[in-house]
Amino acid sequence: MFNSIALVGGTHGNETSGIQLIRNWQQFGLPSRFNELDVSLSIANEAAIAANVRFVDEDLNRQFTFERLSNNNSAKEAELAKALNQQLGPKGDSNTDFVIDIHNTTSEMGATLIILEADEFHIQLARYVKQQMPEANILVEDEKPYLEHGYLCTTGKKGVMIEVGGQPQGVLREDVYLLTQTMAEAILDFCAAYNKGQINTDALPACEAFRLGDNVSFPLDANGKRTAMIHHSLQDNDFKPLIPGAPVFRTFDGKDIVWENETETYPHFINEAAYFKLDVAFATAERIML
Ligand SMILES: [Zn+2]
Repeated sequence: MFNSIALVGGTHGNETSGIQLIRNWQQFGLPSRFNELDVSLSIANEAAIAANVRFVDEDLNRQFTFERLSNNNSAKEAELAKALNQQLGPKGDSNTDFVIDIHNTTSEMGATLIILEADEFHIQLARYVKQQMPEANILVEDEKPYLEHGYLCTTGKKGVMIEVGGQPQGVLREDVYLLTQTMAEAILDFCAAYNKGQINTDALPACEAFRLGDNVSFPLDANGKRTAMIHHSLQDNDFKPLIPGAPVFRTFDGKDIVWENETETYPHFINEAAYFKLDVAFATAERIML
């Protein structure tokens, strides 16, 4: 049963869709069909929003490991994480049944539901969302146990992220906003149906999903300077198969670097602006069925 659900926006201060959706629902109310659900609406990082930046000192969405929540770090987001953990958690012994944290990406990932476990509950959720919203992508990040992630959503007994793009940082696009709203409502519809005992795994069609693999870095020279950019044939092709031999990068002196692995992969977070400083070009994934 979902007795308490927390919807959060503004974990990253320049990801506007979730911020606007939360503010609109605070002002105008949730759609009335959700009246039976206990949903709290929160904005996570007001200081970052005011500055129109992802974060002020450190990435808030990496602060929610047990280790970081218990150490003495005076960074703004480290202190904010401790306060949010009291409000939404506490992590590991949470008073919130389900935390839904809303993000944007500059990559062409459409409406992506990120789940951190592939157990029966999350399979039901993924199948339900995909049935309601066939254009949705399901991304599974279960490379480590749920509670070992540093994500804000792990303050809940269960937690997921909505990741919608492509949208430039600090910009609000109506198409991206509508995808965000549609996915948030699909998840809340699932919660209402789940509470009524109407969810049955076998009654929902199996769905395509992508399981996170590795991050792929930009090519760097001996001084750590970048030597290439994302190839135009890869750009904006998130979750499309990248086959062996297909171009991945174009070097600044005009040569193509191809995908040399023996198997195809499903790249995503291609050219994500927030990962630029980390030299991350994209992440890989394998295609699975849930
Ligand atoms: Zn984000």
